[in-house]
Amino acid sequence: MSPFPARIAIATKNPGKIREIVRICADWPVGWVTAEDVEHDRPGHAAVWPDVEETADTYLENALAKARAVAAATGLPAIADDSGIEVDALEGGPGHRSARFAGEGASDADNLALLIERVREVPPEARTARYRCVAACGFPDGRGISAEGTCEGTLVLERRGSGGFGYDPVVVPREGGFGGRTMAELTPEEKDRVSHRGKAFRALGELLRRD
Ligand code: IMP
Repeated sequence: MSPFPARIAIATKNPGKIREIVRICADWPVGWVTAEDVEHDRPGHAAVWPDVEETADTYLENALAKARAVAAATGLPAIADDSGIEVDALEGGPGHRSARFAGEGASDADNLALLIERVREVPPEARTARYRCVAACGFPDGRGISAEGTCEGTLVLERRGSGGFGYDPVVVPREGGFGGRTMAELTPEEKDRVSHRGKAFRALGELLRRD
């Protein structure tokens, strides 16, 4: 068994994800390295941090590609998250295309507005959905490990709450006993307890401890 890595790079530039990953993994005995740290320590060197196109059709391939690319570029183990929302009335979409639902370069607000439009005519009891997250760790030697987490819920048509990010203002999680609050109305600790990302990264932490 090798020791837990002393430093791990976070292979994402999405501030919402970075905030949640650092919080969920607060008990990991590591120092985090982000693209911003590299730019700060070595001005002009953010270029070493690859921007990986999410070209694959699965969360797993995208997460591993992002993690491995940053691990190769930095020489550090790197973790990545590929995630999305799967709406049953949209045949599981937008899924791994959630970040680009309203088009290339769409904002979270654009994507959320489109999701609400697409489910407006769907009866409330049929507005079921789940968040899915694959958390991956890539190593400089090309190895990769991963873990998955899901969070079942239903969609509402009115945005509620200011926490979280992305689709959170319309997603009501089924578990947790939160009395119909949306993900955006939960405290950060409540969201992490039931979220797809919380489950995936806690499981990835277990794998790293065993690695
Ligand atoms: P990607 O993993 O970078 O492809 O982006 C995932 C997209 O899924 C995000 O841009 C959000 O739109 C959505 N998403 C993933 N996780 C969450 C979450 O915890 N809350 C809200 N939206 C999320």
